[in-house]
Amino acid sequence: MVEETPPVVGTAPAVSEAPGRRDGSATLIHIATHARDEAPAGRPKETALELRNVSCWYGSFRAVKNVNLTIAKREVTALIGPSGCGKSTLLRTFNRMNDLVPSFRAEGEVLFEGKNIYDRDVDPVEIRRRIGMVFQKPNPFPKSIYENVAFGPRVNGYRGNLDELVEDCLRKAALWDEVKDKLHQSGLALSGGQQQRLCIARAIAVQPEVILMDEPASALDPRSTLQIEELMAELKREYTIIVVTHNMQQAARASDTTIFMTMDEDRAGYVVEQGDTIEIFTNPKNRLTEDYVSGRFG
Ligand code: ADP
Repeated sequence: MVEETPPVVGTAPAVSEAPGRRDGSATLIHIATHARDEAPAGRPKETALELRNVSCWYGSFRAVKNVNLTIAKREVTALIGPSGCGKSTLLRTFNRMNDLVPSFRAEGEVLFEGKNIYDRDVDPVEIRRRIGMVFQKPNPFPKSIYENVAFGPRVNGYRGNLDELVEDCLRKAALWDEVKDKLHQSGLALSGGQQQRLCIARAIAVQPEVILMDEPASALDPRSTLQIEELMAELKREYTIIVVTHNMQQAARASDTTIFMTMDEDRAGYVVEQGDTIEIFTNPKNRLTEDYVSGRFG
């Protein structure tokens, strides 16, 4: 059998060719990423998802236009940009979560394992199992801690040992030690940071490949925020993570790749630049990116 070479993840071309400052001198962000597992030099990254000419519409309003990009497997990719530029819309396009908005329409292709998830024969429920989501505000079910994690696998007909699965997911979400003695208490009785880690445990319980996170720490205190960032660094060993954040320190600390979006006069969002996080924050190619990461705009 011939082994296929995984596709190489490329960097999306800058939309505008405005020259950026090359010395990184305007950059205020301190890059202190968690232990980065870089692919050894020369080893191509594998692609988790690919967007081809994707535009997103709410009725007659185009919220996102002509996005082409690739998301690398088992990395943290951060989506940054000013409020309203379409970050959440684009994030929700990765698992068809926008289908739940009646006026929403997507154009283009979102390829997952080479298959367009918007094809008619694709089941969006299965896509959302494989590409899970964690929301801005922690939203545990009004059930016990145990049931929050066990619910999805049970619905999906999980046949293994549920107790072991619940423990494993809570451990992976760095929550086990804090809750192991109160598994049958309500998930809603936990602190905000613990609730968000419970939601992460719930997301991984159905064995997804990708986890989408929409500002997962913006409602949390600084300590819980750091815990979530550390958790992302752990989880990327197994999962592909795409995170929307308005916190640039967080993007700099927690992500491997950063995508900067902004919007045009018509308020349609577009991707300006995608690259290694360190490059985006210290040596961006595009003036718009530089202005944003240095705090001059946005
Ligand atoms: P961001 O995450 O960058 O703040 P959003 O994706 O939330 O941006 O929004 C992008 C644009 O789409 C905004 O102009 C917003 O008002 C609009 N929008 C978002 N959700 C909806 C919706 N459900 N219906 C109509 N317009 C929406």
